[in-house]
Amino acid sequence: MVAFQVAILLTIIFACGYLRAPVVVWTSIIGATLILLAIFGSLGFLFLSIVFLLYLFAAAFANFKTLRQEYFTKPVVLALQKRMPAMSSGERDAIEAGDVWWEKELFCGAPRWKKLLQMPKPQLSDEEKSFLENQVEELCERINEWEVIHEHKDLPEHVWDYLKKERFFGLVIPKEYGGLGFSALAHSSIVMKIATRCMSAAVNTMVPNSLGPAELILHYGTTEQRNYYLPRLARGEEIPSFALTAPEAGSDAASITDQGIVCYDVFEGKEILGIRLTWDKRYITLAPVATVLGIAFRMYDPDHLLGDKEDIGITLGLIPTKHPGVEIGTRHIPMSLAFMNGPTRGENVFIPMDWIIGGVERAGFGWRMIMESLAIGRAISLPALSTGCGKLAYRMTGAYSRLRKQFNIPLSQFEGIEESLSDIAGFTYLLEAGRLFTAGAVDQNVRPAIASAIAKYHMTELARKIIAHAMDVHAGQMIQMGPRNFLAAKHFSIPISITVEGANILTRSLIIFGQGAIRCHPYIQREVELLTASRNDQHIPELDQLLQSHIGYTLSNLVRAFVNGLTGGFLLGSPILGPTAKYYRQLTRMSTALALLSDMCMLILGGDLKRKERISARLGDILSQLYLASAVLKYYKDEGSPKTDLAYVKWSVEKCLYEIQVACNELFNNFPIKWLGKIFRAIIFPWGDAYHKPVDNLSRAIVNTMVTPSDFRERLTRYCFVSKEPDDPMRRMDDALIKAFATEPLFKKFQLATKNGTVTRVGSLEERMKSAVFKGVLTESEMNTLSQFNKMYQEVIRVNEFTFDLRSIVK
Ligand SMILES: Cc1cc2nc3c(=O)[nH]c(=O)nc-3n(C[C@H](O)[C@H](O)[C@H](O)COP(=O)(O)OP(=O)(O)OC[C@H]3O[C@@H](n4cnc5c(N)ncnc54)[C@H](O)[C@@H]3O)c2cc1C
Repeated sequence: MVAFQVAILLTIIFACGYLRAPVVVWTSIIGATLILLAIFGSLGFLFLSIVFLLYLFAAAFANFKTLRQEYFTKPVVLALQKRMPAMSSGERDAIEAGDVWWEKELFCGAPRWKKLLQMPKPQLSDEEKSFLENQVEELCERINEWEVIHEHKDLPEHVWDYLKKERFFGLVIPKEYGGLGFSALAHSSIVMKIATRCMSAAVNTMVPNSLGPAELILHYGTTEQRNYYLPRLARGEEIPSFALTAPEAGSDAASITDQGIVCYDVFEGKEILGIRLTWDKRYITLAPVATVLGIAFRMYDPDHLLGDKEDIGITLGLIPTKHPGVEIGTRHIPMSLAFMNGPTRGENVFIPMDWIIGGVERAGFGWRMIMESLAIGRAISLPALSTGCGKLAYRMTGAYSRLRKQFNIPLSQFEGIEESLSDIAGFTYLLEAGRLFTAGAVDQNVRPAIASAIAKYHMTELARKIIAHAMDVHAGQMIQMGPRNFLAAKHFSIPISITVEGANILTRSLIIFGQGAIRCHPYIQREVELLTASRNDQHIPELDQLLQSHIGYTLSNLVRAFVNGLTGGFLLGSPILGPTAKYYRQLTRMSTALALLSDMCMLILGGDLKRKERISARLGDILSQLYLASAVLKYYKDEGSPKTDLAYVKWSVEKCLYEIQVACNELFNNFPIKWLGKIFRAIIFPWGDAYHKPVDNLSRAIVNTMVTPSDFRERLTRYCFVSKEPDDPMRRMDDALIKAFATEPLFKKFQLATKNGTVTRVGSLEERMKSAVFKGVLTESEMNTLSQFNKMYQEVIRVNEFTFDLRSIVK
């Protein structure tokens, strides 16, 4: 009886927490339950008194505002203010730049899945599809990656001309300025398709369309700048590049020392107010061939020619490279690829004020402008390159592993190889889902700051894993360089994707959770704003309200995480029925766990969390895996929930859940307060580990679809370029796979006859096939079919040979 009454009381308390009941509701319900238990129940006096006291304390805290503000909020605010880390204006700009989107739902512990499923399906227009199928196809057909890298060390002139003529540099410039006015999805698909053919061409194309002058001028330029530059950029009459990085300022780009001093000087024969600029930049893509440089510099006004401020801050200038004093032309060699990359320098170069992007009113706002534009670059370009790598490996390595035999068995049938192939297959599915999802956000006019950092980091890392696996599967075939090697350039390009637009270690350790925690949390951003605003009591009432809600939110997450852990997420809802319903529940469960763990880490570590990068990285990993799994569920739904995708969906989401668990366990093991780590493990995973890596049978299922021609395989590798030239190595691989399936029954017949001794084992394959015809095992035409396939296969496995001095190709 006593146990039953305690159970009722606990159920009511837990239900109030779980359902996030408002203060007046929970104080009334719990109060009434206690009174009823006191009158009619049989709980002991001491127990009831303790519970009553606790209840009265909590109810008083929640309901008596004045007392709470005086004796709780004020001291807490004082303590918090002492622990607040200093935030530079650069950091603040970086944190505040861009929008929060679906990741906020995931961060807050109760994602509204219907909202996700109702988001419009990312789709290409007919015009965009036609461009991909005609102009991009033609471009790819014109490029030979080996020649680009090893002979021209640049794109050949006719390719540059074609890029300009077809307005590849104006993909995102609106039509009114002569650009193609394409969607973010089209931009992503175009870059991805080019990347499957030639990384250097993809990079040369993507830079003018992402973080470059076009993007900056479009959003922040003056009317004159837009009218002058955008049509010229769209037509390829101007080649832009954007220079931020300096020898001393890489990841810490806000620390650039490149300076612009406001002064009077002579420009085109007249004395005008302008800026005397000195810069030394490196690693700048397209700089060696640029006609217009976007330059980030710190602007100073020591003579107060503009106003009171001396240090105006980071400012962006737009400088024609033919302007006297601008140095460009020398090149770096990034991983031996052939896209244009190099330094630019200038000393005391005088430029007029109206060369500032956005004019003098935008002086000092450069960092903010860069941060906002970075969100687009991260959301589109690098995910597109990464997905291109995935699609190429999926299609080609899948085919090769089915064609290539060792020990008389196709590679794909060895379990060891299957493990690598399943990662290629599953990760490619994740990449395609993530790419579409994130590009879709940009097309909904969102500038996804955190989602784009997640996409940048995780998608480039997935591409790195995919290419490493693909290299292992092809082994010697893709180690030997030459025109037949279509993987080596992807392999070399990976560290570049990892490094640019926010190097990966920094992105994972500092940005994803660091920015996510502040921007996505329902209360933190405003709390930080008020805590740093002033040290007087002016903000106490609002802070009091925020803190109260924050405590309620944390307690509710605590209860929900525990109940979800006990019930395995059984009580949680799913927006749909069917085989994926359980994944929605598990993702909600882990989202609640993230909400709880984030609050606890922030509470314990405060501003020190900024330095505890490994804690921050693990929390960011949980958020990121939730994001990627959401992308997969959304993609599956958008495609009409086809049966063919189900194994891929299961593999991908189970992999994400497993990675979440790994991150949680690492967090528990390294929790800032050791015993609390153990308690949180017991709360979130009360029955022990809940997830596992995708099982072998599931991996086998996704590998089988990868190595067999099908509509699904075509869809997943859509826009992976395969030349129409029969001698192209990728075309040959594709054709050989189809032929392999067609000739399989003949091969089996031939093999059986060899095994039972009807056909001799002695002699070349051609001789043995002739003997099979003689013995009546094969017809003449069957022999010819097999012989043709064998020739094709020999071409597939062949590698290039060079003369001794490596100057020319022998084969
Ligand atoms: C091929 C190529 C093209 C480029 N194109 C351009 C361009 O067009 N325009 C332009 O302005 N720049 C460009 N860059 C520069 C690029 O953005 C920088 O290389 C990048 O910001 C990293 O700087 P860094 O290489 O100096 O590395 P560093 O800043 O020295 O970083 C070294 C390592 O430390 C890590 N790290 C740094 N700080 C932290 C931290 N707080 N916590 C954890 N880890 C940290 C980084 O993740 C990295 O792994 C390009 C670079 C390359 C290689």
